[in-house]
Amino acid sequence: MPSKPLLPQNDPDVRKRTRQLASSRREYIYNYVYVKPLAMADGVPLDSLPTLKWGLKVGLRLIEILINKIKLFRTSKFDLHQLKLGKLLGKLRLLTAKGFEKEMRSMVNSRKGVDAMVNPFLKEFGLKQPTGTGNSLKEYNDQFQTIQLPAIAHDFSEDSVFAHMRVGGPNPLVIEGIRGVDVNFPVTDKIFKSVKGFAKDSLAKAGQENRLYLADYKRLTVLKPGNFPNGKKFPAAPKALFAIPPGQKKGHLKPIAIQCGQDPKKFPIFTPNDGTAWQMAKTTVQMADGNYHEAVSHLGRTHLLIEPIVVATHRQLADNHPLNILLLPHFEGTVFINYLAQAKLISPKGPVDKLLAGTITSTRQLAVDALDLDFSFNDSMPPNDLKNRRATNSKLFYPYRDDSLKIWNAIHDWVSSYLGVYYRTDGAIANDNELRNWAADIVARAGGRVHGFGEPEGEIKTRKYLYDAVTMIIFTASAQHAAVNFPQNDIMSYTPAMPLATYSPAPDKKRMPASAWIKSLPPLDISELQLSVGYLLGGIYYTQLGDYQWRYFVDKRVAPFLNQFQERLESIEDEIRTRNEKTSKQGGIPYDYLLPSAVPQSINI
Ligand code: MN
Repeated sequence: MPSKPLLPQNDPDVRKRTRQLASSRREYIYNYVYVKPLAMADGVPLDSLPTLKWGLKVGLRLIEILINKIKLFRTSKFDLHQLKLGKLLGKLRLLTAKGFEKEMRSMVNSRKGVDAMVNPFLKEFGLKQPTGTGNSLKEYNDQFQTIQLPAIAHDFSEDSVFAHMRVGGPNPLVIEGIRGVDVNFPVTDKIFKSVKGFAKDSLAKAGQENRLYLADYKRLTVLKPGNFPNGKKFPAAPKALFAIPPGQKKGHLKPIAIQCGQDPKKFPIFTPNDGTAWQMAKTTVQMADGNYHEAVSHLGRTHLLIEPIVVATHRQLADNHPLNILLLPHFEGTVFINYLAQAKLISPKGPVDKLLAGTITSTRQLAVDALDLDFSFNDSMPPNDLKNRRATNSKLFYPYRDDSLKIWNAIHDWVSSYLGVYYRTDGAIANDNELRNWAADIVARAGGRVHGFGEPEGEIKTRKYLYDAVTMIIFTASAQHAAVNFPQNDIMSYTPAMPLATYSPAPDKKRMPASAWIKSLPPLDISELQLSVGYLLGGIYYTQLGDYQWRYFVDKRVAPFLNQFQERLESIEDEIRTRNEKTSKQGGIPYDYLLPSAVPQSINI
């Protein structure tokens, strides 16, 4: 249990504090080679290993996946009695705290990939994985044997669902308000008016009235076509135009046009009038969005953004520093899951290499770019980010925005009142040498290498900025990660709705044969992998936002503020549920990824 919270300037026992920090610094060391040049923790310090409770949640999910695989892949040779029960029972030692810790340590230390750990199981069961592209949607749907087919399977090909993905899908972070299109995406007024519902509208008018939105995947030009494990893949950097129809009160976007690459001379413009070519163009956007999601929004801007801040916190803030006490629950499990991600998930020939469209080297570059090329911590705070993307128009139905701002404000009030107990004036900040070192370490070349943190960079001068920055850290570790992580389960696990790679080029003419779309989908073995990975990563809910351990905060002055925070989260829960009921009644799609009860405290999966 944490000791009495004290700022360093108020702590009579300076020597104890210094000793404790020195020992933390021997455990938490920066590593710059795992995902070069980003900063991560070197190895997994003992206190970063996961709990047994977390392990059981993962274990149960893995068993569900295994059962689905058994039903899907069993052959005539399959014989339940051949199972090497002894070997399986041996795994029961995992259920003891000691055995679990030993297994987790050996996983960290082993050089084996995920496949090398799973495949022996499949062989033991006498299972055979079919390969090759499916001939019908049914073959993809049938991969859901005991795992339930997600709702998206029934309506993913509708234009309204495609548009909803931009504001309430796995990656609702790309859409930006525009006044009009430019020469690189030459949608004409004639094209615009040809779309059903827009005959009497015009591009200029839609732009003036803040009804025009662009999703531009230009940063994906860094991807080089991958071909692992079987067959050439076709990454793309498309542009897609959306608009709110004139006079529509609900503010739902409709898709207008798609150009499957950046250069209008090379890529034609498709509209909803183009049949199979339109469906393929939409799938190209979904594929691009999936790659952007995993590399940029999920891995880059949540997992890998928080990691160096975890290291800086352990290195610079003593265990009894009030900010350390506040942040620690929001860092639980992050170093461990990130270690596995870089060592197993995004390693050459690993699952990401198999699933995503680019070569593994270029996909890793995309993730690095997300934090190293044009990222700013301050600009990424949701209120600033939404303004920069000109997406604040309240007439736009944008549930991710609305819910994330609610949670942002709730966290901001909690952080302000909690830290306000200790920092009574801005002067208290100036006198806190640990806080000064923390801010400097987060941005330092020899530290966390986070861009755009501090005001000015690398410094914290006011309580106002401190509260904003700490809110951003907790928001990213909880709500933002939840918003991008959990759609992996019920949207991205269904490959036809969001293939992580396409296996034929984007459409190049208006008339495409009806069979061309299904042929562009990943082969069945890859689709099954996408199902399993999405179902696993998107299905582990460990801890809940605002739910700190019983008596975690020993300072009694904190209790009323924590109560307020928890009550606030409950009323946000009610507001979102009411909104979702209304949305459903109006025939729209509910958005529940930011229900506070579905938001964990930390990035732990
Ligand atoms: Mn995650």
